[in-house]
Amino acid sequence: MHIISAVTLLALVSLFQGKDGPAFEIPRTTGLHWFKGNTHTHTTMSDGDSAPEEVARWYKEKGYRFLVLSDHNVFPDPATLSSLVDSSFQLIPGEELTSSFRKKPVHVNGLNIPHVLAPQIDTTLLGTIQKNVDEVRNVKGAPHINHPNFGWAIDQFTLLKVKNNNLLEIFNGHPLVHNVGGGGTPGLEEVWDFLLTSGMRIYGIAVDDAHHFKGEFGPARSNPGKGWVVVRARSLNAQEIIDNLEAGLFYASTGVDLEDVIVEPDRIEVRIRQRSNFKYRTEFIGAGGKVLSQSMENTAVYHRKGDEQYVRAKVFDSGGGVAWVQPVFIRKN
Ligand SMILES: [Zn+2]
Ligand SMILES: [Zn+2]
Repeated sequence: MHIISAVTLLALVSLFQGKDGPAFEIPRTTGLHWFKGNTHTHTTMSDGDSAPEEVARWYKEKGYRFLVLSDHNVFPDPATLSSLVDSSFQLIPGEELTSSFRKKPVHVNGLNIPHVLAPQIDTTLLGTIQKNVDEVRNVKGAPHINHPNFGWAIDQFTLLKVKNNNLLEIFNGHPLVHNVGGGGTPGLEEVWDFLLTSGMRIYGIAVDDAHHFKGEFGPARSNPGKGWVVVRARSLNAQEIIDNLEAGLFYASTGVDLEDVIVEPDRIEVRIRQRSNFKYRTEFIGAGGKVLSQSMENTAVYHRKGDEQYVRAKVFDSGGGVAWVQPVFIRKN
C-alpha cells in the first residue's frame, strides 16, 4: 500500500511539474522526416563557374534532397530545371540580394521567392539590412543574413536590431568569410549566442556559398559540400521545408549526421549517426555561450537544471566535422 502511494505521488508530482512548471519547449516532430539541403550557392548566372543545371546536378548526385540556387541579384528560375526535380530532389527558388553600406557588403538571401528582387540600399547599415529582409518578406519569402564577418561588415549589435529575420549563417564554406572571427571581432557562433542571450529567437544555418565546381577542390577554394542543413518535414514540399527551417526544426552540419534530436520537458537527447570508428564529443551550450555540460556518449543527453535560458548542442567528431543542434527554449506559462 505504501509503495503504491509513493509511486502514485511521484507520478502526480512529475505530471504537475511537466504541466505547470518551467520546462523545455517541445517541438512537434511526429511524422516528420529529415531532408538534407543547401540554401546558398552560385552558378554562371552570377559569379559561379558552372551552369545552373551542372550545379543542381552536383547536389542531386551527392544525395542532397533540396537546393536553393542563390545568385547575386539575378533569379535562376527552377522552372528551367524541372527535368532534375523528382520525388528525391526539390529546387527552391532564391536569390542573394547583394547590397552594401559604405562599401561593406550586405548580403541577404531570399528563399522561396517568386521572382527577382532588387537589392536595397539605405542611409544606415541597419536600414540596409532591414530593407533587404523586408523586400524578401514582402513577397512571402524567407530571408537569411549571410556571412556577417565578410568584409567585417555586420556587427552583433546591429544584428540584434534587425526585425523579422529568423536565420543567420553561422558557417559559410567560402574561404574569405571569417567564420571564427579574430583580432577582437567575435566569431559567428559567439555572435549567435550573443543574440540568443539577448532574447532573440534566431537559428544558425551552415551553407556552402559555393562558386567552384570545376578544377581542384581544396580549403582555399569556394567548393560545394562544406556546410548544409538537415530539415524536418512531412514531405519534400518547398513551403514546408522553408517554414520548418524558419521554425528551427533542423540541424546544421559540416560533417556530422544525426539520427534524431528528442526534446522532452526536462531533457534533450542527441542521437548521432555512427560513422565507422569515429568518436564524438557533444557540448550543451547555454546563455553567454557557456558550456553547461558535455558528453562523450552516443546518445548524448542533457538534463535540465532549472536556470537555463536556452540550450543548444554542438557535436564534434574525431575527423573535424561538427553538427549544430538548434537552441531549445524554455516554455513560458
Ligand atoms: Zn555573399
Ligand atoms: Zn554567396
